[in-house]
Amino acid sequence: MIRKPLLRIRNLSKSYQRGPETVHALRAVSFDLLEGEVVAIVGPSGSGKTTLLNILCGWDRPDEGEIEWTNGSGDHLDWSATTIVPQRLGLVAELSIHENVELPLALAGVNEADATSPVEALLEALGLDHISEHLPTEASLGEQQRTALARALVTGPRLLLADEPTGHQDADSERAVFRGLRSHAATGGTCLVATHNLEATRFCHRILRVDDGRVTVETTSDDDDLDRELSPFAPRITPRLEE
Ligand code: ADP
Ligand code: MG
Repeated sequence: MIRKPLLRIRNLSKSYQRGPETVHALRAVSFDLLEGEVVAIVGPSGSGKTTLLNILCGWDRPDEGEIEWTNGSGDHLDWSATTIVPQRLGLVAELSIHENVELPLALAGVNEADATSPVEALLEALGLDHISEHLPTEASLGEQQRTALARALVTGPRLLLADEPTGHQDADSERAVFRGLRSHAATGGTCLVATHNLEATRFCHRILRVDDGRVTVETTSDDDDLDRELSPFAPRITPRLEE
């Protein structure tokens, strides 16, 4: 399958000052992201995965390098088309699981009646329907993490960033997470997933290896094998907001 480019990342560098020490979190990282692919970033703790995701979602700024959004909208990042599943989740404690997932649609002006069906479809696909009226604190960490994923998927982002999204999942839920990511990719969305779970990478189209701030190896998996392994699954995930 020929995929169109989405993001072109060139020579991205980022250092942090920690007391007298300079930490090189990213060193001249370059790679492309294509439409409709799920890409894993694999690397040991401290290798720069979170730094990279934080820069791509606009929470942090690179010291050097370029990020070019290549879908024709110009050379700036299209922030409104990017969502993230942060490692610390950031769920709103006072809102139910359902309301947390609905929140981005509400903020985008989608009325409640139109939001209900996409929210419910995602809650069901991610095994959250039984706790949808509960608060995040009444759910397990794995369920909270899947809620943050549903919240990121619900607007149909062009780019979905996920920081260790299977860190608290059992094997079945891990598959549900990757099915969610892959079905998003099947609609043309791109997913970039930081993980140190090598098992999980078999659900990704490509693997970027990060070591000490450098992207060192890139491997590609066969598309059809992946889809076969994850089928059958046909969740209805919302169309993109802007379309
Ligand atoms: P990973 O997500 O792969 O575990 P990070 O991107 O969080 O790695 O961190 C990469 C390196 O940058 C680590 O050495 C980390 O300690 C350092 N680092 C990350 N954020 C900061 C910060 N705000 N200040 C100082 N050092 C940081
Ligand atoms: Mg991290």
